[in-house]
Amino acid sequence: MNLWQQYIRPASVPEAITALTSAPGPVLPIGGGTDIMLDLQQGRHSPVHTIVDLTEIPEMKRLELQDGRLFIGAGVTVSRIARDPLAVTHAQALTEACDLIGGPQVRNVATLGGNVAHALPAADGTIALMCLDAEAEIAGPQGTRRVPLSELFLGPGKSALQNGEIIVGFYVSQIQPGQASAFKRIMRPQGVALPIINNSVWLEREGDTIKGVRIAVGPGGAVPFRACKAEAFLAGKPYTSETFKSALEALVAEVKFRTSAMRATSEYRYHLVGTLLKDTLDTAWERAK
Ligand SMILES: Cc1cc2nc3c(=O)[nH]c(=O)nc-3n(C[C@H](O)[C@H](O)[C@H](O)COP(=O)(O)OP(=O)(O)OC[C@H]3O[C@@H](n4cnc5c(N)ncnc54)[C@H](O)[C@@H]3O)c2cc1C
Repeated sequence: MNLWQQYIRPASVPEAITALTSAPGPVLPIGGGTDIMLDLQQGRHSPVHTIVDLTEIPEMKRLELQDGRLFIGAGVTVSRIARDPLAVTHAQALTEACDLIGGPQVRNVATLGGNVAHALPAADGTIALMCLDAEAEIAGPQGTRRVPLSELFLGPGKSALQNGEIIVGFYVSQIQPGQASAFKRIMRPQGVALPIINNSVWLEREGDTIKGVRIAVGPGGAVPFRACKAEAFLAGKPYTSETFKSALEALVAEVKFRTSAMRATSEYRYHLVGTLLKDTLDTAWERAK
């Protein structure tokens, strides 16, 4: 049986929306296809009538500064993000995450849009974007809207995108003096999708004090997890072993690790999270000097 009847390569966002809304049967947008092609081939996704390939749309392949913010098109490959100088400067956590996804073959075709749209709570690109407080630009039949990334997820594998909608790209604030970010993960050997646990941190430092901080952990719940209580505790405090200990307690009280058959038990994740958080916070703290 054919997995699809029609494969379309639109050259613009409006063309893509038209293709998605006018297909005469089930339709799917596709980025690099590293997730969805396997789902189709292995029967986790039923065959579709039309596939709409988003990788030839110039607007979605831009990575540039726009009105004082970094714009990363949803069709940009993760290998390009990992070595892009603007991304390294303004979104270091994201470049570190992208550099760890899969192996070189996967990274050369996998897109950031696909990583986010798949809506998995431990997707590396997603977890990095969470600490960067990214905003997603979404286009659909009703026009274009921007939403905070944290509002894009409804559950594991379930995004808030409506029929006919696609992610065009992501906006991240430019880094300012005293600010820095970092991403770390604990994983099985390369090539196995998704980590045992990952963690991203963005922080602003003023002398010995954490002025502001954002912490994301995956998979810390049904949707990508922000450690809001730990963040609130740390803000305005000096970064010491005591404040770290209390922040970790706040995070552990809030996060919900579960056991996943392919990767790790919940207990193991609770065991690892303190070491990982310390490592990521320390790195961001040093960078923000
Ligand atoms: C061997 C292997 C290793 C991997 N390792 C990792 C890893 O270490 N970390 C990790 O996070 N992931 C990993 N993955 C998963 C996957 O490669 C990444 O999530 C990748 O970024 C997905 O991007 P893609 O462009 O290939 O998505 P696709 O497969 O093209 O699409 C994924 C989903 O998103 C939708 N979609 C794609 N683009 C858009 C858009 N712009 N707007 C709306 N919907 C869209 C598709 O319809 C589909 O539902 C791995 C996969 C493989 C096969």
